[in-house]
Amino acid sequence: MGKTIIISNRLPVQLQISNGSITAVPSVGGLATGMKSVHSGGDSLWIGWSGLTDEEIPKELAPQIDKALAEHGSSKVNLSQEEVDGFYFGFSNRTIWPLFHYFLEYSEFELDSWNTYKNVNQKFADAVLASSDEEDTIWIHDYQLMLVPQMVRKQRPNIAIGFFLHIPFPSYEIFRTLPWREEVLEGLLGSDLIGFHTYDYERHFLSSVRRLLGLEVHFNEIDVSNRLVKVDSFPMGIDYKKFSTAAKNHGNNKASEQSDLQRRLNKHKESTPDAKFILSIDRLDYTKGIAKRLNAFEYFLKKYPEYKEKVRLIILAVPSRSNVPQYQLLKREVDELVGRINGELATVSWTPIWYFYRSLPFENLIDLYTSSDIAWLTPIRDGMNLVAKEYIATRTDKTGVLILSEMAGSANEMNEALLINPNNFEQISESLYRAINMPVEEQKERNSQLQKRLERYNVEKWANDFMTSLREQRELDAINI
Ligand code: UDP
Repeated sequence: MGKTIIISNRLPVQLQISNGSITAVPSVGGLATGMKSVHSGGDSLWIGWSGLTDEEIPKELAPQIDKALAEHGSSKVNLSQEEVDGFYFGFSNRTIWPLFHYFLEYSEFELDSWNTYKNVNQKFADAVLASSDEEDTIWIHDYQLMLVPQMVRKQRPNIAIGFFLHIPFPSYEIFRTLPWREEVLEGLLGSDLIGFHTYDYERHFLSSVRRLLGLEVHFNEIDVSNRLVKVDSFPMGIDYKKFSTAAKNHGNNKASEQSDLQRRLNKHKESTPDAKFILSIDRLDYTKGIAKRLNAFEYFLKKYPEYKEKVRLIILAVPSRSNVPQYQLLKREVDELVGRINGELATVSWTPIWYFYRSLPFENLIDLYTSSDIAWLTPIRDGMNLVAKEYIATRTDKTGVLILSEMAGSANEMNEALLINPNNFEQISESLYRAINMPVEEQKERNSQLQKRLERYNVEKWANDFMTSLREQRELDAINI
């Protein structure tokens, strides 16, 4: 058996340059954790961009960087600033991201960035080809690299290739507006297995393949010139243990061990014991529905004024893609909305919205998750939404209410949450009311079900299921040929 090669836009390692030397620090993100069982030992390699452009890497440090990355089983693809601009900030984040999240009006169709996307995908494919042979198994991740499967397949016809899309795949009516739609589909079809978070994304993909390429689809398999490509859904989980254990330990902390944030949260709880904390955490992205949520909060407080001073909305908005114009506009809109609503509704002893525009360390996320009575997540469109799962995993006493948009992929597995349409303010208000007043027994009942499911289908299981399915698909295909 050959080795496993994982390819994603970013490596699971952060490079830090200081005083002329390099350190490589492993990242702690969900994907890196999930891939641990796949990316371990000497028989695996992770290929991706280091996060530093060619211009940012001092020439004399290049060998040191390669060595530092190799120690983490990683190898980098070199990208210039111009390539990052066209490929990442351009085609990936100004064309595919908005289009696949149904923000058609935000999608820019520029030939130059498409060409850069193609060239950079070829660079990733070349890096794979340079380090692989036909015995290996390749797992390619996400929307930045949709052409890589076909590019690798061309040179290595028998290699095993899996691809997983971490964002939604839109309906055919949306996807067909992309000028390079056939090339993108053909790129993906270089794979043996294509994975999505949900059955709906899978269905949309199959329908686009059928209608745009005229290929035969049998149930969830596509006939591609003597090969069978399987399409399936694998909803990504979280590192359940990491969150539940952190929350348990957090609960046992002595006062002196508590963070500054936790102490402040406690102080507010003590001064108004029956007031509820409502939490939302998202990257500051137009798909997350942050502005709508703020408007809905105002709507709720106008409809139920008796909850003034009884609820507090904590918004953690993590800075993201701040050099893309739509994100700058959104930042201004959210800043202004928070200012206006707080200005209109605040009293001497109450600020309705606490707004943090930053990313917080893990310990503080646990402070927020464990201190909040309600998690309120209202994306307009979201491939999965892991924050919803993380909130539930930290509720060790099983209390807490999750209000979740039905437009998030995770809603498919979280039926016990209060599911809402993020555009329906009336329904959202009723859900907030219901969440505030939900009996503890009902909270526990709902969360027990959710926790059981999340614990079982954790991120490691997700990664292993995908790899097993890829292996099975290869065996089946070998028999068919
Ligand atoms: N997160 C983080 N730092 C923060 C806030 C959030 O690392 O300050 C993490 C959070 O724990 C979650 C991820 O960011 O794992 C967000 O994932 P999600 O699927 O909800 O949304 P995405 O940002 O991938 O669209």
